[in-house]
Amino acid sequence: MAELLRDHTTLRLGGPARSWVRATTEADLVDAVRRADEAREPVLVLGGGSNLVVADAGFDGTVVEVATTGIRADVEGDDPTCGGVVVTVAAGEPWDAFVATAVGRRWVGLEALSGIPGSVGATPIQNVGAYGQEVAQTLASVRVWDRTLRGFRTFAAADCGFGYRTSRFKADPGRHVVVEVVFQLRQGELATPVTYAELARTLGVEPGERAPMDAVRDAVLGLRRGKGMVLDAADHDTWSAGSFFTNPVLDAGALPPDAPSWLQPDGRVKTSAAWLIEHAGFGKGYGVGPAQVSGKHTLALTNRGGASTRDLLALALEVRDGVEQRFGIRLVPEPVLVGCEL
Ligand SMILES: Cc1cc2nc3c(=O)[nH]c(=O)nc-3n(C[C@H](O)[C@H](O)[C@H](O)COP(=O)(O)OP(=O)(O)OC[C@H]3O[C@@H](n4cnc5c(N)ncnc54)[C@H](O)[C@@H]3O)c2cc1C
Repeated sequence: MAELLRDHTTLRLGGPARSWVRATTEADLVDAVRRADEAREPVLVLGGGSNLVVADAGFDGTVVEVATTGIRADVEGDDPTCGGVVVTVAAGEPWDAFVATAVGRRWVGLEALSGIPGSVGATPIQNVGAYGQEVAQTLASVRVWDRTLRGFRTFAAADCGFGYRTSRFKADPGRHVVVEVVFQLRQGELATPVTYAELARTLGVEPGERAPMDAVRDAVLGLRRGKGMVLDAADHDTWSAGSFFTNPVLDAGALPPDAPSWLQPDGRVKTSAAWLIEHAGFGKGYGVGPAQVSGKHTLALTNRGGASTRDLLALALEVRDGVEQRFGIRLVPEPVLVGCEL
């Protein structure tokens, strides 16, 4: 029987795949992609399915599920308790388990990214970020299989085109299969300075101060749970793809009065998509059907059980158009849409 994408996505949406390969080694991963490419068969590279909206019709091609494993740490210098560590991680490693390992071993720089679902290999795709950290800050390089050039390539962080929820990999969809990610971390007891105001308040420190690694991880997980942003099969508020829309970056003049704003390096301002959605009339829990705005966070669109992708997209369209009518700002979806569009 065909494998169903809905059994592999956190939204629990998506129909059958024509064929399915679960690759547990790098050689199998590249081989599966190469063979599908030679047969001119569409390929969907799948990690944890936590940033995907897949059509009810499914995927008419080969899904290659990345299930490779391995974490290798090279400590720099003689003293294993300070200095740097270069950590090479296979794409299929679960992200949050890796963050837990890093925090436990006092590798500094990923702790604020606790609780994000999915695989390590997907993190460079949209430059995963939360609570003041993003992978671009600690990522040293990404090794990929380039489907166009049919060879391995290594991109240093500076060549990854990282920006807010984007990268060269996201900009050129499907071309690069991430096989390994290398992080350059420091070692120490204290986390990187806490820059996110809500996290600083929770930790009882001033923005810019440091706090112990475990405390930061615990605080982030607590805050995320309160927003339905840690996966929990029993909680429909977490049957989502996380934030459904990115925070818009605008010219200052286009910012609605009273909307929160953060100045960007290019002089423009980033505002809060959650604020826009809420103030356009779509509060927490909005919706009557099987797809609704999360009861804990206006930015997450959720499957209450039994929703179809069609239901979810109808809700997404209503929210997007409602915000556009109210504020003249068109929200852009954050997840990758497969076989469907908004
Ligand atoms: C509850 C919840 C909370 C979330 N919170 C955050 C957050 O705080 N910050 C944030 O940035 N994101 C967040 N997300 C989004 C998501 O977790 C991340 O984008 C994550 O990195 C996706 O990983 P994945 O393995 O599940 O990717 P998938 O959903 O499987 O795939 C996403 C995209 O990446 C591609 N891809 C996956 N693996 C590879 C690979 N090895 N090589 C090439 N392409 C690949 C896929 O083809 C697809 O285009 C959240 C999601 C959920 C459900």
